[in-house]
Amino acid sequence: MNVACNIKEVRAEIPAGVELVAVSKFHPAEAVMAAYEAGQRCFGESRVQELLEKEKELPQDIRWHFIGHLQTNKVKQLIGKTSLIESVDSERLLRLIDKESEKAGVVTNVLMQVHVAKEETKFGFYPEELLQFFTDKKFETLTNTHICGIMGMASNTDDLIRVREDFKNIAAVFNRIANDSTLGLRGFDRLSMGMSGDWQIAVEEGANIVRIGTRIFGERQY
Ligand SMILES: *Cc1c(COP(=O)(O)O)cnc(C)c1O
Repeated sequence: MNVACNIKEVRAEIPAGVELVAVSKFHPAEAVMAAYEAGQRCFGESRVQELLEKEKELPQDIRWHFIGHLQTNKVKQLIGKTSLIESVDSERLLRLIDKESEKAGVVTNVLMQVHVAKEETKFGFYPEELLQFFTDKKFETLTNTHICGIMGMASNTDDLIRVREDFKNIAAVFNRIANDSTLGLRGFDRLSMGMSGDWQIAVEEGANIVRIGTRIFGERQY
């Protein structure tokens, strides 16, 4: 597995204006370094402990995205270590991130995770739930959290029509919120969707962040 080579290939394929998150979960620090030396600076991790260990050991100009389900008892440790928490999947978690960020004196950037893949138990807000959250302006009471946009995943299926449908639905939720000037949101402009097997479709449907692991680092050893 030539990580440097893969990174270069993937970066060449991704259109300008789309940010590549290299998903390094379950891969060792050496793999991250190989990507880093090929110019990659943004990495994604799905477990708090693993992110913290890598963050400590690896270059400080790496931007870490947290992309996994975040347990409330681990929020405090994570605050100040990420450039973006992509996977805010409940209002309770959002409030806790805000509270801990205030205590730490930092502003935390987050994405709200939307759930459209119906046949699976994936985390996230249902589209109606998320639209209601914004309509009710529940974000206005946040003091130390900046909601930058939305993250979503398509159904885990070979049916690419279904995958495209899912991305269209996620993008529709994003656009409804982003284009509603009555909400008074600022800097709500990030749409994270697409992984190794479906990122091209996601970009066609409007993604400006893609999260790619296997295509860069190979299969994960769980
Ligand atoms: C693991 C993971 C990815 C990367 O998946 P690949 O198929 O390896 O590219 C992307 N997003 C999330 C939320 C993940 O957990």
